[in-house]
Amino acid sequence: MEVITSNGKYTIPKGRQEAIEYLKNTFSREAEGIEKFFEIQGRITDEMYRLFKTDPDSMNTLSRFLFNAVFPLRFSNIARYYRKKGADIVDSLAKDRDLRRILKIAAIFPNVSMMMLSWFWNIIYSADGYYPKGGMQKVSDALTENLKKMNGEILYGKKVAKIVTEGNQAKGIMLSDNTIINAKTVISNADARQTFFEMLNGDAGVPQKYLDNLKRWRLSESFFYVYLGVDMDLKGLSVNPIMWYFPEKDRHDFIGIGIPSLSDKGLAPEGKHVVIIGAFGDDSARPWFEKEKLDKEEYKKWKEATADLLIELTEDVIPGLKKHIVVKETASPLTFCRYTLNSMGASSGWSMDADQQNKLPQKTPIKNLFLAGHWTFNPGGVPSAFMTGRKAAEMVKKAL
Ligand SMILES: Cc1cc2nc3c(=O)[nH]c(=O)nc-3n(C[C@H](O)[C@H](O)[C@H](O)COP(=O)(O)OP(=O)(O)OC[C@H]3O[C@@H](n4cnc5c(N)ncnc54)[C@H](O)[C@@H]3O)c2cc1C
Repeated sequence: MEVITSNGKYTIPKGRQEAIEYLKNTFSREAEGIEKFFEIQGRITDEMYRLFKTDPDSMNTLSRFLFNAVFPLRFSNIARYYRKKGADIVDSLAKDRDLRRILKIAAIFPNVSMMMLSWFWNIIYSADGYYPKGGMQKVSDALTENLKKMNGEILYGKKVAKIVTEGNQAKGIMLSDNTIINAKTVISNADARQTFFEMLNGDAGVPQKYLDNLKRWRLSESFFYVYLGVDMDLKGLSVNPIMWYFPEKDRHDFIGIGIPSLSDKGLAPEGKHVVIIGAFGDDSARPWFEKEKLDKEEYKKWKEATADLLIELTEDVIPGLKKHIVVKETASPLTFCRYTLNSMGASSGWSMDADQQNKLPQKTPIKNLFLAGHWTFNPGGVPSAFMTGRKAAEMVKKAL
């Protein structure tokens, strides 16, 4: 991980002790605060490894009651820091602006709890975050191939309009072309609000409190992304596969710049590279969810202007970038919404903010309807989609 500010570049080395020593040497006057931050972070991470070995969902009522009762004793640091904002802890321990930025950026999302920030730091210094060789599509391809081997079938380009219910029980689904597919069980990983308010029509026996929560809980942030193919040999430049840049001159507090082709040569032809620029889909995106239908041309202009701004900022890190663009794709929160149907283009399900961290149980109030995916785990993301998918399969097996 590399952080770039107006004062220079900070490259975090691999290894917990190495990362701490690097920060202490770079910000020597802040050594005490850095020690304290990582001391808390270490305690929380140790408890999280222990917690992951338990599975409260599979416990019977009595075991679960006992588990919850002794939780604050067994996992005292998690209990203490679960709702405390990581950024506040950082601010209380560090004064230097760049140090604060570095300590906070590990979690990307700005308002996460100290628990989540600690876990993300564990991923950073253990270099335990991965990019699938060949790109993210390869993961979907592998799943598809395996599903087909097991005689599974995937219908592409079809929209589920309804979950068919009888009494309080799921009986199948209806596609938007009115085709009905009967099923003993249904699993939805679609947008939670869509599942309950559109596919189930906001009724079908779902308790009002459940529906109220769906409306009330905050969504995770969406993004604005620019994907570039450039005829520029970036290997010679001093750039890293993952960089965070704080431009200090624009509405974006920071932007992320990824160059996956530095680690995965197969992504671009010899001498060319893939540059991905990402920023939070800030407040400027929100009005277009209403406006887009009114004025598509204006929306396109806004999208282009936002992309140009991000490219302009990236020029500070990769000089000459603009002149070398061969391919350009842009994605706004509306684009992510259009492709995934996730409300407002939410990237990871429910908000990860310390005061939110909501998740839906995978078992729903409707019999034989189960949920999977990022609406059922916090933090949402690819690993949680996998874990909850597996769990949904186990639940279905049990139900059948
Ligand atoms: C730009 C971006 C970057 C991200 N980066 C990371 C990252 O680095 N690491 C990480 O862990 N996570 C990342 N995430 C989050 C991660 O991609 C998601 O949390 C994850 O893909 C969620 O998987 P899911 O199966 O729950 O839902 P989704 O991936 O949203 O899948 C739902 C699927 O259901 C389909 N669908 C929805 N409604 C219907 C309907 N009515 N009928 C038929 N099909 C329907 C959608 O088309 C979609 O294919 C990122 C997200 C974004 C947007």
